[in-house]
Amino acid sequence: MKRFVCDCGTTQSLFFESSRCLSCQRLSGYCYKENAMLSFDETKESGVFMARGSRYQQCKNYRHHQVCNGMIRLANEVQPNGEALCFACHFNSNVPDLDVPEHLPLWRKLETAKRRLLFTLQSLGLPIRDREQEPEAGLSFSFMADKTAGDHFNSPLADQEPVFTGHANGNITINLAEADDVARHAARVAMGEGYRTLLGHFRHEIGHYYWDVLIARHPVLLGEYRKVFGDERESYQDALDRHYKRSNDDDSWKGEFISRYASMHPWEDWAETWAHYLHMLDTLETAQAYGIVTEVENAAVIDTKEITLPQEERYYGKNSSIEDIVSNWIYFSVVLNALNRSMGLPDAYPFVISDAIRAKLAFVHRTIHSVG
Ligand SMILES: [Zn+2]
Ligand SMILES: [Zn+2]
Ligand SMILES: [Zn+2]
Repeated sequence: MKRFVCDCGTTQSLFFESSRCLSCQRLSGYCYKENAMLSFDETKESGVFMARGSRYQQCKNYRHHQVCNGMIRLANEVQPNGEALCFACHFNSNVPDLDVPEHLPLWRKLETAKRRLLFTLQSLGLPIRDREQEPEAGLSFSFMADKTAGDHFNSPLADQEPVFTGHANGNITINLAEADDVARHAARVAMGEGYRTLLGHFRHEIGHYYWDVLIARHPVLLGEYRKVFGDERESYQDALDRHYKRSNDDDSWKGEFISRYASMHPWEDWAETWAHYLHMLDTLETAQAYGIVTEVENAAVIDTKEITLPQEERYYGKNSSIEDIVSNWIYFSVVLNALNRSMGLPDAYPFVISDAIRAKLAFVHRTIHSVG
Protein backbone atom coordinates (compact mmCIF):
# COMPACT_ATOMS: atom_id res chain seq x y z
CA MET A 1 0.00 0.00 0.00
CA LYS A 2 1.13 3.51 -0.76
CA ARG A 3 1.60 6.08 1.96
CA PHE A 4 -0.82 8.99 1.75
CA VAL A 5 -0.34 12.33 3.45
CA CYS A 6 -2.94 15.03 4.11
CA ASP A 7 -2.51 18.32 2.26
CA CYS A 8 -3.16 20.30 5.47
CA GLY A 9 0.55 20.91 5.73
CA THR A 10 1.40 18.52 8.52
CA THR A 11 3.00 15.18 7.84
CA GLN A 12 -0.07 13.46 9.20
CA SER A 13 -0.53 10.11 7.47
CA LEU A 14 -3.87 9.50 5.89
CA PHE A 15 -4.25 5.77 6.12
CA PHE A 16 -6.05 3.98 3.34
CA GLU A 17 -8.80 3.23 5.86
CA SER A 18 -9.02 6.80 7.26
CA SER A 19 -12.24 8.75 7.29
CA ARG A 20 -10.78 11.86 8.95
CA CYS A 21 -7.39 13.55 9.14
CA LEU A 22 -6.33 13.44 12.78
CA SER A 23 -4.52 16.76 12.38
CA CYS A 24 -6.95 19.09 10.55
CA GLN A 25 -10.05 17.01 11.43
CA ARG A 26 -11.38 17.25 7.89
CA LEU A 27 -13.31 14.41 6.31
CA SER A 28 -11.04 12.16 4.29
CA GLY A 29 -11.66 9.38 1.83
CA TYR A 30 -10.40 7.39 -1.09
CA CYS A 31 -11.02 8.59 -4.64
CA TYR A 32 -10.89 5.90 -7.26
CA LYS A 33 -10.53 8.30 -10.18
CA GLU A 34 -7.39 9.85 -8.67
CA ASN A 35 -6.14 6.70 -6.89
CA ALA A 36 -5.52 8.85 -3.84
CA MET A 37 -6.59 9.50 -0.30
CA LEU A 38 -7.72 13.13 -0.02
CA SER A 39 -9.10 15.42 2.68
CA PHE A 40 -12.18 17.47 1.90
CA ASP A 41 -13.62 20.86 2.74
CA GLU A 42 -17.32 21.15 3.42
CA THR A 43 -19.35 23.43 1.12
CA LYS A 44 -22.63 25.28 1.31
CA GLU A 45 -24.14 22.66 -0.99
CA SER A 46 -25.64 19.82 1.04
CA GLY A 47 -23.62 16.60 0.67
CA VAL A 48 -20.96 18.25 -1.52
CA PHE A 49 -17.29 18.37 -0.52
CA MET A 50 -14.34 20.02 -2.25
CA ALA A 51 -10.79 18.77 -2.81
CA ARG A 52 -8.19 19.89 -5.36
CA GLY A 53 -10.73 22.22 -6.93
CA SER A 54 -13.28 19.46 -7.67
CA ARG A 55 -16.65 18.63 -6.14
CA TYR A 56 -17.22 15.25 -4.49
CA GLN A 57 -19.91 13.31 -2.67
CA GLN A 58 -19.62 10.41 -0.26
CA CYS A 59 -20.47 6.87 -1.31
CA LYS A 60 -23.88 5.86 0.05
CA ASN A 61 -22.22 3.22 2.26
CA TYR A 62 -19.91 5.91 3.64
CA ARG A 63 -22.58 8.49 4.31
CA HIS A 64 -25.18 6.16 5.81
CA HIS A 65 -23.24 3.27 7.33
CA GLN A 66 -19.59 4.37 7.63
CA VAL A 67 -18.48 0.99 6.27
CA CYS A 68 -16.63 2.61 3.37
CA ASN A 69 -14.57 5.77 2.83
CA GLY A 70 -15.13 6.06 -0.91
CA MET A 71 -15.59 9.53 -2.41
CA ILE A 72 -17.17 10.08 -5.81
CA ARG A 73 -16.21 13.02 -8.00
CA LEU A 74 -19.14 15.04 -9.30
CA ALA A 75 -19.17 16.64 -12.71
CA ASN A 76 -19.92 20.36 -12.80
CA GLU A 77 -23.51 21.21 -11.91
CA VAL A 78 -24.32 17.56 -11.07
CA GLN A 79 -26.15 17.21 -7.77
CA PRO A 80 -25.17 14.48 -5.30
CA ASN A 81 -27.15 11.27 -5.64
CA GLY A 82 -27.96 9.66 -2.28
CA GLU A 83 -27.91 6.20 -3.85
CA ALA A 84 -24.52 6.50 -5.57
CA LEU A 85 -21.96 3.84 -4.68
CA CYS A 86 -18.20 4.10 -5.02
CA PHE A 87 -16.20 1.79 -7.28
CA ALA A 88 -15.61 -0.73 -4.46
CA CYS A 89 -19.20 -0.84 -3.22
CA HIS A 90 -20.79 -1.11 -6.65
CA PHE A 91 -19.62 -4.73 -6.85
CA ASN A 92 -21.78 -5.76 -3.87
CA SER A 93 -24.64 -8.04 -4.78
CA ASN A 94 -25.53 -8.98 -1.21
CA VAL A 95 -24.71 -7.13 2.00
CA PRO A 96 -25.38 -8.30 5.57
CA ASP A 97 -28.83 -7.88 7.10
CA LEU A 98 -28.53 -4.61 9.03
CA ASP A 99 -31.58 -5.36 11.17
CA VAL A 100 -29.05 -7.33 13.22
CA PRO A 101 -27.02 -4.65 15.04
CA GLU A 102 -23.91 -6.87 15.36
CA HIS A 103 -23.65 -7.11 11.58
CA LEU A 104 -22.62 -3.49 10.94
CA PRO A 105 -19.07 -3.60 12.44
CA LEU A 106 -18.49 -6.98 10.77
CA TRP A 107 -19.59 -5.62 7.40
CA ARG A 108 -17.19 -2.69 7.91
CA LYS A 109 -14.29 -5.13 8.31
CA LEU A 110 -15.32 -6.92 5.11
CA GLU A 111 -15.45 -3.68 3.15
CA THR A 112 -12.05 -2.60 4.48
CA ALA A 113 -10.43 -5.83 3.32
CA LYS A 114 -12.27 -5.71 0.00
CA ARG A 115 -11.08 -2.15 -0.72
CA ARG A 116 -7.47 -3.13 -0.10
CA LEU A 117 -7.90 -6.06 -2.45
CA LEU A 118 -9.32 -3.84 -5.20
CA PHE A 119 -6.50 -1.32 -4.72
CA THR A 120 -3.92 -4.04 -5.42
CA LEU A 121 -5.83 -5.34 -8.45
CA GLN A 122 -5.96 -1.83 -9.88
CA SER A 123 -2.25 -1.31 -9.17
CA LEU A 124 -1.55 -4.45 -11.18
CA GLY A 125 -3.70 -3.19 -14.06
CA LEU A 126 -5.88 -6.31 -13.92
CA PRO A 127 -9.25 -6.22 -15.68
CA ILE A 128 -12.10 -5.86 -13.18
CA ARG A 129 -15.40 -6.29 -14.96
CA ASP A 130 -18.70 -5.92 -13.14
CA ARG A 131 -22.04 -7.64 -13.68
CA GLU A 132 -23.20 -4.95 -16.06
CA GLN A 133 -20.19 -5.45 -18.29
CA GLU A 134 -20.40 -9.22 -17.97
CA PRO A 135 -23.80 -10.38 -16.66
CA GLU A 136 -22.88 -14.08 -16.41
CA ALA A 137 -19.37 -13.89 -14.94
CA GLY A 138 -18.67 -10.30 -13.87
CA LEU A 139 -17.21 -9.72 -10.42
CA SER A 140 -19.61 -9.39 -7.49
CA PHE A 141 -19.52 -9.92 -3.75
CA SER A 142 -22.05 -11.54 -1.41
CA PHE A 143 -21.60 -11.12 2.32
CA MET A 144 -23.98 -13.47 4.10
CA ALA A 145 -24.55 -15.07 7.49
CA ASP A 146 -25.89 -18.55 8.26
CA LYS A 147 -25.49 -18.35 12.04
CA THR A 148 -26.24 -15.80 14.74
CA ALA A 149 -23.73 -13.00 15.24
CA GLY A 150 -24.78 -12.53 18.87
CA ASP A 151 -23.08 -15.76 19.99
CA HIS A 152 -20.08 -15.54 17.62
CA PHE A 153 -21.78 -17.61 14.97
CA ASN A 154 -22.51 -20.73 17.00
CA SER A 155 -26.26 -21.09 16.47
CA PRO A 156 -27.69 -21.75 12.99
CA LEU A 157 -30.18 -19.20 11.69
CA ALA A 158 -33.63 -20.58 11.04
CA ASP A 159 -34.54 -20.95 7.34
CA GLN A 160 -31.04 -20.14 6.16
CA GLU A 161 -29.10 -22.44 3.88
CA PRO A 162 -25.43 -22.90 4.87
CA VAL A 163 -23.20 -20.14 3.45
CA PHE A 164 -19.87 -21.30 2.06
CA THR A 165 -17.04 -18.85 1.51
CA GLY A 166 -16.04 -19.36 -2.11
CA HIS A 167 -16.18 -18.24 -5.71
CA ALA A 168 -18.62 -19.19 -8.46
CA ASN A 169 -18.98 -17.52 -11.88
CA GLY A 170 -17.53 -14.21 -10.75
CA ASN A 171 -19.43 -14.02 -7.48
CA ILE A 172 -17.35 -14.14 -4.33
CA THR A 173 -19.24 -15.18 -1.21
CA ILE A 174 -17.76 -14.50 2.20
CA ASN A 175 -19.45 -15.89 5.28
CA LEU A 176 -19.90 -13.02 7.73
CA ALA A 177 -18.52 -15.27 10.52
CA GLU A 178 -15.06 -14.76 8.98
CA ALA A 179 -15.24 -11.11 10.10
CA ASP A 180 -15.85 -12.17 13.71
CA ASP A 181 -12.49 -12.56 15.47
CA VAL A 182 -13.73 -15.24 17.88
CA ALA A 183 -15.36 -17.34 15.15
CA ARG A 184 -12.43 -16.97 12.75
CA HIS A 185 -9.91 -17.90 15.45
CA ALA A 186 -11.93 -21.01 16.32
CA ALA A 187 -11.98 -22.01 12.62
CA ARG A 188 -8.24 -21.39 12.32
CA VAL A 189 -7.46 -23.64 15.29
CA ALA A 190 -9.87 -26.36 14.12
CA MET A 191 -8.22 -26.40 10.68
CA GLY A 192 -4.69 -26.28 12.09
CA GLU A 193 -3.91 -23.11 10.12
CA GLY A 194 -1.13 -20.69 11.02
CA TYR A 195 -2.79 -17.82 9.18
CA ARG A 196 -6.44 -17.00 8.56
CA THR A 197 -7.55 -13.45 7.84
CA LEU A 198 -10.36 -11.70 6.02
CA LEU A 199 -7.88 -10.15 3.61
CA GLY A 200 -6.44 -13.60 2.97
CA HIS A 201 -9.92 -14.88 2.07
CA PHE A 202 -10.47 -12.06 -0.41
CA ARG A 203 -7.06 -12.58 -1.98
CA HIS A 204 -7.67 -16.32 -2.26
CA GLU A 205 -11.17 -16.08 -3.76
CA ILE A 206 -10.16 -13.43 -6.30
CA GLY A 207 -7.50 -15.93 -7.41
CA HIS A 208 -10.31 -18.26 -8.50
CA TYR A 209 -11.97 -15.36 -10.32
CA TYR A 210 -8.78 -14.60 -12.25
CA TRP A 211 -8.23 -18.27 -13.01
CA ASP A 212 -11.51 -18.11 -14.93
CA VAL A 213 -10.69 -14.76 -16.54
CA LEU A 214 -7.02 -15.22 -17.41
CA ILE A 215 -6.40 -18.95 -17.70
CA ALA A 216 -9.58 -20.89 -18.49
CA ARG A 217 -10.14 -18.77 -21.62
CA HIS A 218 -6.52 -18.94 -22.75
CA PRO A 219 -5.43 -22.37 -24.11
CA VAL A 220 -1.67 -21.64 -24.07
CA LEU A 221 -1.68 -20.44 -20.46
CA LEU A 222 -3.98 -23.31 -19.48
CA GLY A 223 -1.45 -25.82 -20.81
CA GLU A 224 1.37 -24.12 -18.91
CA TYR A 225 -0.76 -23.92 -15.77
CA ARG A 226 -1.33 -27.68 -15.84
CA LYS A 227 2.42 -28.28 -16.07
CA VAL A 228 3.07 -26.15 -12.99
CA PHE A 229 0.00 -26.80 -10.81
CA GLY A 230 -1.37 -30.10 -12.13
CA ASP A 231 -4.59 -31.01 -13.93
CA GLU A 232 -7.61 -29.19 -12.53
CA ARG A 233 -9.96 -31.67 -14.25
CA GLU A 234 -9.31 -34.12 -11.39
CA SER A 235 -12.53 -34.52 -9.34
CA TYR A 236 -12.87 -31.62 -6.94
CA GLN A 237 -15.29 -33.52 -4.71
CA ASP A 238 -12.89 -36.47 -4.32
CA ALA A 239 -10.06 -34.05 -3.55
CA LEU A 240 -12.21 -32.30 -0.96
CA ASP A 241 -13.19 -35.59 0.73
CA ARG A 242 -9.55 -36.68 0.82
CA HIS A 243 -8.48 -33.32 2.24
CA TYR A 244 -10.91 -33.35 5.15
CA LYS A 245 -10.01 -36.95 6.03
CA ARG A 246 -6.35 -36.05 6.39
CA SER A 247 -4.99 -35.27 9.85
CA ASN A 248 -3.80 -31.76 10.62
CA ASP A 249 -0.50 -33.38 11.63
CA ASP A 250 0.08 -34.76 8.13
CA ASP A 251 2.77 -32.48 6.72
CA SER A 252 3.55 -34.38 3.52
CA TRP A 253 2.43 -31.26 1.56
CA LYS A 254 5.33 -29.18 2.83
CA GLY A 255 7.86 -28.11 0.22
CA GLU A 256 5.59 -28.54 -2.79
CA PHE A 257 2.74 -26.33 -1.58
CA ILE A 258 2.47 -22.99 0.22
CA SER A 259 -0.20 -24.34 2.59
CA ARG A 260 -2.04 -27.54 3.43
CA TYR A 261 -5.14 -26.22 1.71
CA ALA A 262 -3.13 -25.59 -1.47
CA SER A 263 -2.34 -29.30 -1.63
CA MET A 264 -6.04 -30.17 -1.89
CA HIS A 265 -6.60 -29.56 -5.61
CA PRO A 266 -4.78 -27.67 -8.43
CA TRP A 267 -7.43 -24.92 -8.28
CA GLU A 268 -6.77 -24.34 -4.59
CA ASP A 269 -3.03 -24.45 -5.17
CA TRP A 270 -3.42 -21.68 -7.75
CA ALA A 271 -5.71 -19.58 -5.49
CA GLU A 272 -3.40 -19.96 -2.49
CA THR A 273 -0.30 -19.10 -4.51
CA TRP A 274 -2.11 -16.13 -6.05
CA ALA A 275 -3.09 -14.89 -2.56
CA HIS A 276 0.54 -15.09 -1.43
CA TYR A 277 1.64 -13.12 -4.46
CA LEU A 278 -0.75 -10.33 -3.43
CA HIS A 279 0.40 -10.57 0.23
CA MET A 280 3.97 -10.02 -0.94
CA LEU A 281 3.31 -7.09 -3.24
CA ASP A 282 1.17 -5.16 -0.79
CA THR A 283 3.49 -5.71 2.16
CA LEU A 284 6.68 -4.94 0.24
CA GLU A 285 5.13 -1.77 -1.16
CA THR A 286 4.05 -0.70 2.34
CA ALA A 287 7.53 -1.32 3.74
CA GLN A 288 9.09 0.67 0.94
CA ALA A 289 6.57 3.51 1.33
CA TYR A 290 7.60 3.86 4.97
CA GLY A 291 11.30 3.86 4.11
CA ILE A 292 12.05 0.37 5.40
CA VAL A 293 14.83 -1.28 3.46
CA THR A 294 13.58 -4.47 1.91
CA GLU A 295 16.52 -5.33 -0.33
CA VAL A 296 18.54 -8.41 0.29
CA GLU A 297 22.09 -7.23 0.82
CA ASN A 298 24.53 -8.25 -1.90
CA ALA A 299 21.96 -10.43 -3.60
CA ALA A 300 23.04 -11.23 -7.11
CA VAL A 301 19.44 -11.54 -8.28
CA ILE A 302 18.73 -7.83 -7.85
CA ASP A 303 19.04 -5.83 -11.00
CA THR A 304 20.25 -2.43 -9.80
CA LYS A 305 18.33 -0.69 -12.58
CA GLU A 306 15.11 -1.88 -10.97
CA ILE A 307 15.90 -0.42 -7.57
CA THR A 308 15.59 3.06 -9.02
CA LEU A 309 12.17 2.42 -10.50
CA PRO A 310 9.25 4.22 -8.84
CA GLN A 311 7.63 1.93 -6.32
CA GLU A 312 4.56 1.15 -8.43
CA GLU A 313 6.81 0.07 -11.28
CA ARG A 314 9.08 -1.92 -9.07
CA TYR A 315 6.40 -4.19 -7.71
CA TYR A 316 3.40 -3.72 -9.97
CA GLY A 317 4.75 -2.81 -13.39
CA LYS A 318 5.40 -5.01 -16.39
CA ASN A 319 9.15 -4.53 -15.82
CA SER A 320 8.97 -5.90 -12.28
CA SER A 321 11.04 -8.99 -11.68
CA ILE A 322 9.65 -11.98 -9.82
CA GLU A 323 13.16 -12.91 -8.64
CA ASP A 324 13.48 -9.45 -7.11
CA ILE A 325 10.03 -9.66 -5.51
CA VAL A 326 10.52 -13.14 -4.03
CA SER A 327 14.09 -12.55 -2.83
CA ASN A 328 13.09 -9.33 -1.13
CA TRP A 329 10.05 -11.00 0.32
CA ILE A 330 11.99 -13.92 1.79
CA TYR A 331 14.35 -11.43 3.42
CA PHE A 332 11.65 -9.06 4.57
CA SER A 333 9.25 -11.73 5.90
CA VAL A 334 12.00 -12.84 8.28
CA VAL A 335 12.24 -9.24 9.54
CA LEU A 336 8.46 -9.08 9.80
CA ASN A 337 8.30 -12.25 11.87
CA ALA A 338 11.16 -11.08 14.09
CA LEU A 339 9.31 -7.80 14.76
CA ASN A 340 6.17 -9.72 15.69
CA ARG A 341 8.14 -11.95 18.06
CA SER A 342 9.51 -8.81 19.73
CA MET A 343 5.91 -7.85 20.41
CA GLY A 344 4.98 -11.32 21.69
CA LEU A 345 2.84 -11.97 18.63
CA PRO A 346 2.74 -15.03 16.38
CA ASP A 347 4.68 -14.89 13.11
CA ALA A 348 2.99 -12.61 10.58
CA TYR A 349 4.10 -14.89 7.75
CA PRO A 350 4.29 -18.51 8.95
CA PHE A 351 5.14 -19.96 5.54
CA VAL A 352 8.20 -21.27 3.74
CA ILE A 353 8.85 -20.54 0.07
CA SER A 354 10.61 -23.46 -1.60
CA ASP A 355 11.92 -23.59 -5.18
CA ALA A 356 8.72 -25.39 -6.24
CA ILE A 357 6.65 -22.54 -4.79
CA ARG A 358 8.89 -19.94 -6.43
CA ALA A 359 8.11 -21.56 -9.79
CA LYS A 360 4.38 -21.31 -9.05
CA LEU A 361 4.70 -17.67 -7.99
CA ALA A 362 6.63 -16.97 -11.20
CA PHE A 363 3.73 -18.41 -13.18
CA VAL A 364 1.23 -16.20 -11.31
CA HIS A 365 3.47 -13.19 -12.05
CA ARG A 366 3.73 -14.07 -15.73
CA THR A 367 -0.02 -14.65 -16.02
CA ILE A 368 -0.83 -11.26 -14.45
CA HIS A 369 1.56 -9.45 -16.77
CA SER A 370 0.25 -11.31 -19.80
CA VAL A 371 -2.77 -9.01 -19.64
CA GLY A 372 -2.97 -6.00 -21.92
ZN1 LIG B 1 -5.13 17.13 7.51
ZN1 LIG C 1 -18.32 2.71 -1.05
ZN1 LIG D 1 -10.48 -21.76 -2.96
